[in-house]
Amino acid sequence: NVRVRFAPSPTGPLHIGGVRTALYNYLFAKKHNGTFVLRIEDTDQNRYVANAEKYIIDALNWCNIPYDEGINKNEKFGPYRQSERKNLYKKYADILLEKGWAYYAFDTSEQLDAHRKGYESEGKTFIYNWHNREKGRLVNSLVLSEEDVQEKINSGENYVIRFKSPQDETLEMEDEIRGKISIDTNTLDDKILFKSDGMPTYHLANIVDDHLMEISHVIRGEEWLPSMALHVLLYRAFDWQAPKFAHLPLILKPVGKGKLSKRDGDKLGFPVFPLAYTNEKTNEVSRGYKEDGYFSEAVVNMLAFLGWNPGTEQEIFSLEELINEFDLKRVSKSGAKFNPDKTKWFQQQYMQQKSDAELTSLYLTILAEKGINKEEAFVQKVVSAIKERAVFVEDFWDLSHFFFQTPTEYDAKASKKNWKADTGALMQELNAVIANIEDFSSENTEKVIKEWISGKEIGFGKVMQPLRLSLVGKLAGPHLFDIIAMIGKDETMQRITNAIE
Ligand code: GLU
Repeated sequence: NVRVRFAPSPTGPLHIGGVRTALYNYLFAKKHNGTFVLRIEDTDQNRYVANAEKYIIDALNWCNIPYDEGINKNEKFGPYRQSERKNLYKKYADILLEKGWAYYAFDTSEQLDAHRKGYESEGKTFIYNWHNREKGRLVNSLVLSEEDVQEKINSGENYVIRFKSPQDETLEMEDEIRGKISIDTNTLDDKILFKSDGMPTYHLANIVDDHLMEISHVIRGEEWLPSMALHVLLYRAFDWQAPKFAHLPLILKPVGKGKLSKRDGDKLGFPVFPLAYTNEKTNEVSRGYKEDGYFSEAVVNMLAFLGWNPGTEQEIFSLEELINEFDLKRVSKSGAKFNPDKTKWFQQQYMQQKSDAELTSLYLTILAEKGINKEEAFVQKVVSAIKERAVFVEDFWDLSHFFFQTPTEYDAKASKKNWKADTGALMQELNAVIANIEDFSSENTEKVIKEWISGKEIGFGKVMQPLRLSLVGKLAGPHLFDIIAMIGKDETMQRITNAIE
């Protein structure tokens, strides 16, 4: 029974790395007829951002990868916000204390700093673990008497509960993507599990919740790989069956070294967030793929390939195909370079794949905002004539305004080059020819006009370029006779007349 979870901390908007983690969890769950759980890890109140949770949910919905279970949805293992589960963690810290897998520590931060400095001055690093926890000047329940410990707790002294990591053991672990991993437990420090303010740390809450929520596979970013040993040891200490782990590769900057960061987006001119986000404190706005005009399918397809590939040449995958093909065994161990150009390429592919009807309905909205109300059938013809050259729906207007509006300006450079002294007269003659065309289809107008040009024994360009300038305002756009047929005889003649004047 596959149950996976996406467990973001609501500290800000979800960066595309987070969305990829959610996507891989979603694909894995769907592939195995499992359940995709959303849990909000908000135990760190200092870093809590109020609108982040809503952003996370909106982002998953926009990507079309909604959770099956979580806040306000099939809440059978709820609540799904750790802050609302606060009272249940102490019990688990107590279990570990009782079993001897954890201990109280009373060292103040000043004392710990002093130890760190002392070690540093000898060229060593201070690690709070087996090496020093039971000797020296550390203040914890391993060295104090039971009465002293009780007295300190009763008198309200600050404490933490630390995990007692084992000594001299080689811990063998298995990662679904990385294979066997072994760790010398002597290198681990005794991580804090619980604090006297009543809050668990990430490690304790995460393990307890994954256990209680019956999570079968933990699929998360590589930044959590160093925590895996502690997590495996915690499951062992509780006598719980550990889930399987899979750590996804880092997402790297497109150029230079290191992890893709939130800042990279603005620097290089592309979004790193699914949705635009306004920081309520600074009013700073981060761009989002949605608002930049990307189709969510393109973004999802791009993210699927950031660390995974199907092993074939195929690159365009619908969500359904991704579900069928996805396999943790095909996720790479090494970092995946983020490539904004590739994202654009996916967008372009999806633009060509979308049906004219769907694109038309999107374009109708944009046209309505401009006060243009044309019948759907006409707009659909426009869309099918221009979409080949479009990357975003926002490009449609630039590519097609002349279907809806008479040009009021003419490209100066092109006019200078193509509108000669005799052009006006030529265009007047052309208008007379056009006036007599009965069958105003693209094919027929092309035939009649070209025959007329041939009969005059002049170059095609002498007529075609000024004609295009008259109708479009510049030397661009789709097949000229398609435009003529679409705007109709009256409008064609009117535009030629306008241009002559
Ligand atoms: N709350 C952690 C995060 O923000 C979850 C890590 C995990 O999946 O275990 O990424």
